[in-house]
Order: sequence, then structure tokens, then C-alpha cells
Amino acid sequence: TRILGIEGTAWAASAAVFDAAADDVFIESDAYQPESGGIHPREAAEHMHEAVPRVVERALEHARETHDGPASEPPIDVDERSSSGQQAAPVDAVAFSRGPGLGPCLRVVGTAARALSQALEVPLVGVNHMVAHLEIGRHTSGFDAPVCLNASGANAHLLAYRNGRYRVLGETMDTGVGNAIDKFTRHVGWSHPGGPKVEAAAEDGDYVDLPYVVKGMDFSFSGIMSAAKQRYDDGVPVEDVCYSLQENVFGMLTEVSERALSLTGSDELVLGGGVGQNARLREMLAEMCAQRGARFHAPEPRFLRDNAGMIAVLGAKMYEAGDTLALADSRVDPDFRPDQVPVTWRARSER
Ligand code: ATP
Repeated sequence: TRILGIEGTAWAASAAVFDAAADDVFIESDAYQPESGGIHPREAAEHMHEAVPRVVERALEHARETHDGPASEPPIDVDERSSSGQQAAPVDAVAFSRGPGLGPCLRVVGTAARALSQALEVPLVGVNHMVAHLEIGRHTSGFDAPVCLNASGANAHLLAYRNGRYRVLGETMDTGVGNAIDKFTRHVGWSHPGGPKVEAAAEDGDYVDLPYVVKGMDFSFSGIMSAAKQRYDDGVPVEDVCYSLQENVFGMLTEVSERALSLTGSDELVLGGGVGQNARLREMLAEMCAQRGARFHAPEPRFLRDNAGMIAVLGAKMYEAGDTLALADSRVDPDFRPDQVPVTWRARSER
């Protein structure tokens, strides 16, 4: 199976081709970089409009270069098309991120995916971006039933599989974790994205007191962010604020991840999302897992930040399970929650 994946929920215009037989993922991405402030939805959508055709073309070029002829078992009508002079499709299906994300961006990507599926005469697969963050970790780790910590820009939650769905065990009560960090760095005057800058500054910092808010399985970032801004305005060195911000925010995520492992009885944790690129967060999670005899897996950075590779990989699983979309049902959903997705692609015995 060979699947074209297209991602465009926020800042990354990305296309990928996943070749299941070779277990090879080719990704071509083009990031939107705001000139000032954070992500502006309309500008991000304009970026999608401009960049998606280019990254898709590059991914399809790669698919054509690396393979001759039809993608997998050719359906009869593909042969007919070939003999009528039209080239066989270089992929078996087109998978796209349906949500959650910024509506204007999702609509551009949805339109592109529908057009491509029609032009190539292959099915359309609608992928939940959050489930894709989880499934790429499951794919690259080989873990069977992991708990997943999604630590991304616009989200933060813990997912685990139960009775046919990925259930949200715990989540942020306000902003996503990356967005919270980015709000602090905007206040300080640093350019977007702020996460890597906080990570670098934290290396030279000492601890100052900041709020730490975990309520049951949920957590909140707004109080800690306001306090961090206040400390900075009061003249506390920015390195100290960054260090303390990381210790508290990642400590909260680690505490709830541990509780999720304990509740589910799982001994596997995978990490997802762009904040997962942070070495301190990975260190805390790895240490917590080691202490309780659980295994920890963080995918490589290209699979952590938003990318079409994870869309193509989950798209292949869904395609193989026959989980494709009719054009009429293919509208995007900015609030698409992971627990709305019936998990069709796991073996029946596992479901
Ligand atoms: P979502 O998947 O929820 O739609 P998103 O589209 O905003 O999120 P991601 O690529 O998952 O994007 O994550 C981007 C976020 O990751 C940004 O907020 C950025 O600051 C943060 N980030 C990137 N690198 C690091 C790092 N080294 N440490 C902490 N945060 C980081």
C-alpha cells in the first residue's frame, strides 16, 4: 500500500508518501512563519493555499520516482486507464487531516485532498490529527496498547485505547501546552515558536516559585503563564522563569502521565506533538517510566511536530481497514476530538 498524506491543521503545510511494504516515509514540509506575534489563522490559510500544491507535487514526484506502475494490486480500471494513455495513480489513496485545527487551514487542505482523490481516482481517507500523533508513536515503537501523551501546540491530553476508541483520560482545562509557552515568549518579545527558546534559556536558570495546577486527571496552564509573565515584569531573570516554567509544566504532564499508566495498567508510554521535541520533558517522562518499570518511546522529531508522515501512516491503516470517506461526508471539523473516531484498523481481537 502507498498512501499520500496531507497535513495542514495550523502552521505546517506538509505532504508525505508512506510506502507500507518498504516501511518508508517521505515527508516534504513548508512551515508558516508569522512575521510578528503568534499564528494568524487567515495568514496561515494563505500559506496553505500557496504551499500545499508545491509539497504535494514534490511528494507525488517522489512516489513516481521510487515506483513504476500502479501502487499495489492494480484494480482492473487502473489498467484500462493506463491503456487509454493516462498514467496509473502513484498512490492507493489520499489521506488528509480533517481536524482538529484552524478552520481556514483545514478547508484549504480538505479541498486539495478531494480534488486529488478525484483526479487520481483513488479513495479519500479522513484522519484525526490527534489520533495520528498517537498512532505514529505506536507505529515507530511497535508498542501494542500504549498510553499516549500528546504535548502539542494547541492541545495537551492523555489518550488510551478502550472499547473501540481512544479515550481522553486527562486534558488541559484551558490552552494547549505549546501555545501557553508561546504566549509567555511573545510577552518577553521572542519570535514564534517560543518552545525551543525557552528550552535553551532554561539551561542557565534556577528555580523560582510558580503555580503547579493538576486537578485529578486534568491540568491548567493559564495561571502559571500569568505568573510567569508577572515574575518577568518584576525583574526575575528570564532564564530563571524559563527553567521554572519547564519544571512545573512538564512536571504536571509527567504526574498525569504516571496516573494514566497506573489507571490503565499499561506499561507503555508514547509521546506525541511538537513540545515532545523538548529534551527536559523527555527526560522526566523516561525517568518516571524507568521508576515504574514501563517502557517509554518518543518518535524522532520529524514525526513529533506537525507532519504529513503521521497522516499517511494512519491513512494506510484506515485504508487497509476499508475506512474511506465518501466525498459527501468529507467536510472538515475544527473541533474533531480523538474519541469521536471509531478505531477500525486494529485487529478485531484487540478491539
Ligand atoms: P496541534 O498538533 O495541537 O495542532 P500545533 O499544530 O500547534 O499543535 P505542533 O507541531 O504539535 O503544532 O507543536 C508546535 C509547538 O511545539 C509550538 O508551540 C512550539 O513552541 C512547541 N515546541 C517546539 N519545539 C519545542 C521545544 N524544544 N520545547 C518546547 N516546545 C517546543
